[in-house]
Amino acid sequence: MGLKLLAEVSPQDLLVALAELHNHTIGYVKSMALKCAVDLGIPAAIHRRGGSATLAEIASDASVHPARLPDIKRVMELLSASGIFTAKPADQGGSGAVVYGLTTAGRFLVGYRNISPVVPFLTNPLVVSSFFSMSDWLRSEPTTAAAAAGAGSSSGSGSLFELAHGCAQAEMASKDAALNGVLNESMAADSQLFLEVVIFDKGRIFRGLSSLVDVGGGNGAGTQVIAKAFPRIKCTVLDLPHVVGQQAAAGAAGEGNLQFVAGDMFESVPSANAALLKNVLNHWGHDDCVKILARCKEAIPARNAGGKVIIIDMVRGSVLGDSKVSEMEAIQNMFMMYVNGAERDESEWKAIFSDAGFSDDYKIMPVLGPLSVIEIYP
Ligand code: SAH
Repeated sequence: MGLKLLAEVSPQDLLVALAELHNHTIGYVKSMALKCAVDLGIPAAIHRRGGSATLAEIASDASVHPARLPDIKRVMELLSASGIFTAKPADQGGSGAVVYGLTTAGRFLVGYRNISPVVPFLTNPLVVSSFFSMSDWLRSEPTTAAAAAGAGSSSGSGSLFELAHGCAQAEMASKDAALNGVLNESMAADSQLFLEVVIFDKGRIFRGLSSLVDVGGGNGAGTQVIAKAFPRIKCTVLDLPHVVGQQAAAGAAGEGNLQFVAGDMFESVPSANAALLKNVLNHWGHDDCVKILARCKEAIPARNAGGKVIIIDMVRGSVLGDSKVSEMEAIQNMFMMYVNGAERDESEWKAIFSDAGFSDDYKIMPVLGPLSVIEIYP
């Protein structure tokens, strides 16, 4: 059988097949190279030097030991072959010296719209190690809804994270200040960038509101972008005590129209014209999403008085034919499994809206491919 297969496969196909398996199996080396580059501040060093730097300059700026120059070169070569850095000959003279620069993707790791804080979160050992027990988890019976009753405090119960670490991610973050910081800074960086895009492209969704509650709004960095752009909207950030407790206790009013409330979105949501849920529902299963939306519905006025919920999340399957985007959707959807969340297509969203008692004439507004704004009405 084995020999027959070898006879049927051309050497070229065999090479491609082996390379595919190899690249899949140790694809994590790419993640680690990116984490290393960010930890060493390499994108920032290239940026500070005007957008290009030699290996020696990078090594010097990143305090890499001179004896490890050939090793940092390997990191730079991999990240140049995989779309983070550019690599060009330093001169025409064939000296072999290379100058590194930033690709469009690499430019988002520096400067004003810097999403590099996402890297320490996505490569965090607690997050990554959750996936090691996936096959055991898939063979085990899911926690029943009854066992997970009082879902607010049992968030992520029965998740891969819980199986690996004995408690849900939110509970771990409430005790582990380093993990809490990594999580909150990652969400904040992502939100600051994406909310600017949303306001630029779909700003009308916020127009006319006098108040907005950002449910699961993290440390409020994203809400602040809205509060600044729309100074007449009174913005409230609701999140768990370990995320916003200090600001809530201090009554911190960031820009005058921003306040913080520490609480549990499964219990109650502060009243406002509109509730915003950005990257929150993708952390939860269907039933929990229905519960969260039910609390939001109680917090907003009737539809004819302008009440609505704004959801910013992925809608899978809205871009066809772009393999990078399809791969991102599939990877992100599987990634969310570690906290029992999911990335959803329109039919899955529709079922949640309907079960939570919202009208079926929701509006999906694509912003960047599958990354969308959805408006739903009571
Ligand atoms: N909306 C933010 C953060 C998304 S991450 C952003 O897009 O940047 C999900 C957020 O939900 C986290 O900040 C987490 O602390 C919060 N969260 C989880 N469980 C919660 C609960 N029961 N009540 C309120 N917030 C909760």
